[in-house]
Amino acid sequence: LIQVFLPLNTLGFVFRETRDALLNTEALFTLLDQQPDIQDAPDAAPLAERDTTVRFEHIDFGYDPQRQILHDLSLEIPHGKTFAVVGSSGSGKSTLARLLMRMYDPDRGLVRIGQQDLRQISQESLRQVIGVVPQDPVLFNDTIAYNIGYGKPGATREELVAAARAAQADDFIRLLPEQYDTVVGERGSRLSGGEKQRIAIARAFLKNPPIIVLDEATSALDTRAERAIQGALENVAKDRTSLIIAHRLSTIVGADEIIVMDRGRIAERGRHDDLLAHRGLYAQLWELQRQQQQAETLER
Ligand code: ATP
Repeated sequence: LIQVFLPLNTLGFVFRETRDALLNTEALFTLLDQQPDIQDAPDAAPLAERDTTVRFEHIDFGYDPQRQILHDLSLEIPHGKTFAVVGSSGSGKSTLARLLMRMYDPDRGLVRIGQQDLRQISQESLRQVIGVVPQDPVLFNDTIAYNIGYGKPGATREELVAAARAAQADDFIRLLPEQYDTVVGERGSRLSGGEKQRIAIARAFLKNPPIIVLDEATSALDTRAERAIQGALENVAKDRTSLIIAHRLSTIVGADEIIVMDRGRIAERGRHDDLLAHRGLYAQLWELQRQQQQAETLER
């Protein structure tokens, strides 16, 4: 990936702009999925509102016309609240996140931030207000400091360290041979999945956007790493409008609301305790994960 960008570097300003825009969208995450036909409307304007309430209104959506994935889905994430989306594989969790990032437009219905339809907001401005922490963050084969720092060009070392602390990454970074100057290896190969994700969370802290979309890493974590991720999640989501795609239910017990997806529809919603008491799908998922965790602990 570095190789792709280096020649662009040498071509100067225009390409640098493009490259920065790409990096800012976490484009390397979106690149594979990217829909080339999403373009700014002629009258697209920057996001004008301070209210970052996210509204999905009666969304029908499919990647292919023959196969509808989301069915008349409506959901409102109030300004500053953390909503977690859970559900079995293929239920449509990531699709929801992709629609919020406007990687696709819905077939019917609309997505709004505040009162503004996403299709009326310039994509550049959308990228500024949404911080994305992907499941498998792209790291450059460069130092930890560089990898955190491109969340905010020109950030000082103090700012980097503060962001890493908030992301619960500072502790593991300090144990690395050269701390913040340690080179992470090709695609971050010298770091674990959980560590990479905390670097990405630190990057999001530096960028400081009002909306966060976080796709939790699926990789198995030990209890300590899991606690660190949980702490990092809580910190980064605090006071931001947050959509967390959760694979480990234990990390989202504190969410303001948990949305349980089933085959493209919202099957249940509520807080952790209420959903458990309801003894429905969420309670089943929770029990399943508990058993899996027990089995893994026995294996170790
Ligand atoms: P997981 O927990 O496995 O990540 P998910 O709930 O996030 O699953 P989605 O990624 O939203 O599920 O996928 C929902 C459905 O849409 C799945 O059946 C999937 O096969 C299909 N799908 C996802 N991405 C695409 C795509 N780019 N093109 C076509 N179909 C897709």
